[in-house]
Amino acid sequence: MHTKKPTPLSEIGEFGLIERITSNITSKHASTIKGVGDDAAVIESGNEYMVITTDLLTEGIHFNLVYTPLKHLGYKAVVVNLSDVYAMNAVPKQITVSIAVSNKFSVEAIEELYSGIYLACEKYNIDLVGGDTNSSMTGLTICITAIGTVKKEDIVYRNGAKINDLICVSGDLGAAYLGLQLLEREKVLFEKDHSLTPDFAGKDYLLERQLKPEARADIVAFLKEKGIKPNSMIDISDGLSSEILHICKNSGVGCRIYHNKIPIDPQTLMMASEFNIEPLICALHGGEDYELLFTVPLTDYDKISSVKDVHVIGKITVADEKAMMLTGEGNLIELIAQGWDGMSDHRR
Ligand code: ADP
Ligand code: MG
Repeated sequence: MHTKKPTPLSEIGEFGLIERITSNITSKHASTIKGVGDDAAVIESGNEYMVITTDLLTEGIHFNLVYTPLKHLGYKAVVVNLSDVYAMNAVPKQITVSIAVSNKFSVEAIEELYSGIYLACEKYNIDLVGGDTNSSMTGLTICITAIGTVKKEDIVYRNGAKINDLICVSGDLGAAYLGLQLLEREKVLFEKDHSLTPDFAGKDYLLERQLKPEARADIVAFLKEKGIKPNSMIDISDGLSSEILHICKNSGVGCRIYHNKIPIDPQTLMMASEFNIEPLICALHGGEDYELLFTVPLTDYDKISSVKDVHVIGKITVADEKAMMLTGEGNLIELIAQGWDGMSDHRR
């Protein structure tokens, strides 16, 4: 008998796997407005929509406890979920938190983790409403689900980008990736020589971006205040390039972004040069920035220019023009999704 050889996960990657296991879903309920395929699912709830998103963090894959304080980890685990809620132009209200812990953790250690979770709940005005607790053979796993609400007319998907829209990004990009490289470098040095103390001088912003990221609640609030409703939006968890491609693919459009418009912090520039990496590569493919990437109609140019910490980095084009970046030297380069791939790099 001929048996089919099992397909290695690495052959199709994370997105291929999600596609494979979800492509046959059909909704049974009219209240399921949007299922798989955006930053959060959208469910009808009276006059509003409820948005729901979940993220799983695994020790040794998403975080290394050698240099990640548990309090920071708890904070970050909440924030990464809230970021997906804001990416739908919604406001997060509740979370559930599920953990699996091995016996290497003490009660106090888990309390420390929760002190970070509760700190994020205070800062973002979130109620922790449940979860699950389990044991684990290998370490710590945290799964958080966030629930938010949005007026029906305010919901923003990945698939609404229109030709000639302005492409906007909040904050700056690439710093979290370099924060991680810095922590990894210092860990290796410390393992070789325990008398060394880490050299983090002048690199506080990079560490903060990696260890204690924030979700852009402020940007969603500003947009509302200015009467701007993006045509499309996504949060940047996997790097600008991968996220812009999601918007283009889902919206059936192309884009042109400009290298010299991509916001990069001076500490990112300095660290990149120390590591001998092109800062642009960190911004395009680094990930974990948790900034918002969105598109607005060209007519909103004046309004969007007045929003603090938002940068216009390009425009939406027809699909045939593909997703391109114009470099400082005037060359057009096609954008590729080279973000972290959970199946091969073990980080996302
Ligand atoms: P994000 O980076 O915004 O968290 P992901 O890339 O993780 O989004 O997920 C993309 C989409 O696929 C989301 O709609 C998510 O809910 C869905 N998804 C991811 N993994 C699974 C799974 N195992 N089963 C069903 N849906 C999934
Ligand atoms: Mg997202």
